[in-house]
Amino acid sequence: MNALDRNIKTGPPPIRRLTEAVANRIAAGEVVERPASAVKELVENALDAGARQIAVDLAEGGRALIRVSDDGHGIAADALPLAVERHATSKLADDDLVNIHGFGFRGEALASLAAVARLTLTSRPADADSAAEVVVAGTAGAAAPRPAARTTGTTVTVEDLFFATPARLKFLRSARAEGQAVADQLRRLAMTAPAVAFTLSDVTDPAHPRTLIDLPACSGTPEGALKSRLKAIMGAQFTENALPVLAERDGFHLSGLAALPTYSRGNASAQFLFVNGRPVRDRLLGGALRAAYIDALPKDRHGVVALFLAVPPEAVDVNVHPAKAEVRFREPGVVRGLIIGAIRHALAEAGLRTASTVTAGLLGAERSPPPPNRIYQMDRPSQTARHAAHAAAAPS
Ligand code: ADP
Ligand code: MG
Repeated sequence: MNALDRNIKTGPPPIRRLTEAVANRIAAGEVVERPASAVKELVENALDAGARQIAVDLAEGGRALIRVSDDGHGIAADALPLAVERHATSKLADDDLVNIHGFGFRGEALASLAAVARLTLTSRPADADSAAEVVVAGTAGAAAPRPAARTTGTTVTVEDLFFATPARLKFLRSARAEGQAVADQLRRLAMTAPAVAFTLSDVTDPAHPRTLIDLPACSGTPEGALKSRLKAIMGAQFTENALPVLAERDGFHLSGLAALPTYSRGNASAQFLFVNGRPVRDRLLGGALRAAYIDALPKDRHGVVALFLAVPPEAVDVNVHPAKAEVRFREPGVVRGLIIGAIRHALAEAGLRTASTVTAGLLGAERSPPPPNRIYQMDRPSQTARHAAHAAAAPS
């Protein structure tokens, strides 16, 4: 008997409100896909809290344990139960969804994690005499905060991820693969905050922790610190083979590094894109990169970039994806044109209009470095850039 027949027989089933626990578990399905997404949410929270040092520990690729510790501003003991409730956030002072300055605002990450795992939230604000913690597991809801020991900052411990949702558990890959996804996620986030120190450790065997990532805080000017961080993450090879990209148009600002065509990859995994400081994987942006390198690279090669796009808050909607991995631009053509124009311009300035002009000599001492900090104005474009922008704007 199908649903329709049943409805004819007995009338439609009554509409009922989902319990908070079920609603949280459904929300968790979107926010927490795998250990890497849990780490993303927790590290973003640490960054939002102004942390200078963030330590991530994993056991069994995150399935058994994910622990993120920070030295940020902490959470007051009496606010701990609220922090793990859904739709509770300290990041929207009013109901303005346009001027979002931190990573978070949906107020559902901790609640979602608590719905699908065992979550312990331990925190101590700088002005508190002691730390406190709450434990939430599956449907139970937060118990009253109890005293705990720790110095200033916050530790979130997530144990037995997806124990409450066995279907999701089945989709997890090997501990190794999940651990690698976590590392990739953490590297992306580390690029957004060069002044913050990050570590990732595998503590599957607590007696022999293994350090997987160790990124000390980078000091200096913002540009210098970013370059040091990119070098630490992507290797000196990348920074040596990359060109500065800098462009501005209508309040859109693009900066970062784009590698020479000779330093390309067989897949797009080394394309790091950020919009207003947020790591994104966006088809529009990926397409713009492909178009930017199209004359310089064979079809099966991908440019290596770390690009940071700053746009006016009202020009972008970051609330189109539960994990905020995608964004929607009000004027996608402008963004696309800016990226394509800026990269092509950088490549052209390095004397590399097409792959056929690339020779070993160009990569060595003969290549004169492009002028530092040159702002390329799209309103007064060079021929190359005009062509690029035009090509970008044309429907393909
Ligand atoms: P959101 O980040 O969208 O606000 P979360 O569920 O991730 O939602 O976190 C809820 C609230 O808990 C945050 O708004 C913040 O006030 C607090 N919080 C979470 N993690 C931390 C942390 N590491 N340091 C300080 N406060 C935190
Ligand atoms: Mg959050």
